[in-house]
Amino acid sequence: MIIEVVRLGQRLVRDDRVTTHAALVSRAFGASRIYMSEAAEDIPGTIHKMNRAWGGSFEAVVEPDPFGVIRRKKDAGYAVVHLTMYGRALNEYLKSEDAPDKMLVVIGASKVPPQIYRLADYNVAVGSQPHSEIAALAVFLDRVQGGSQLDRALEGATRRIIPTEFGKRVVDL
Ligand code: SAM
Repeated sequence: MIIEVVRLGQRLVRDDRVTTHAALVSRAFGASRIYMSEAAEDIPGTIHKMNRAWGGSFEAVVEPDPFGVIRRKKDAGYAVVHLTMYGRALNEYLKSEDAPDKMLVVIGASKVPPQIYRLADYNVAVGSQPHSEIAALAVFLDRVQGGSQLDRALEGATRRIIPTEFGKRVVDL
């Protein structure tokens, strides 16, 4: 399954750490790209360095028109899943819908423009309590992939972690 992510909107006070974490979680949990309208200038560079060390070809794209991206992806056959506490329960969504080949996951940074609720193919809640777009994204990506993203090895890595019970083991490849 190809998964891409869009982060909508801006916080009143820009928070580069949260923005960076949205990108890192997307990358580590199996998405191939994130579009974000608000991002620290060095995020694409940070991600590029991360790919060089740990592999893969994840991209962070600064996109001033996220609704344009959503419309284009819909036209290209992506299922658009908007994560919101007001949506359908995640467990019910997973039971009733087949996994699509291509999925665009939309998360908000604060209050999202109301048109996203109609533009999305699915509005899905990761529990009906307010929490965080990063937590919602991580749980959602894990559940739609059944955890398989945690076992994949990313191609082109120059460093690899050897999982170990105590301490740190990293090999240079
Ligand atoms: N009132 C907002 C809402 O519609 O979910 C909460 C804003 S929250 C600070 C920012 C983003 O986190 C939301 O736009 C949504 O993508 C995500 N989020 C927060 N709680 C969620 C939940 N229970 N289920 C799914 N997504 C959630």
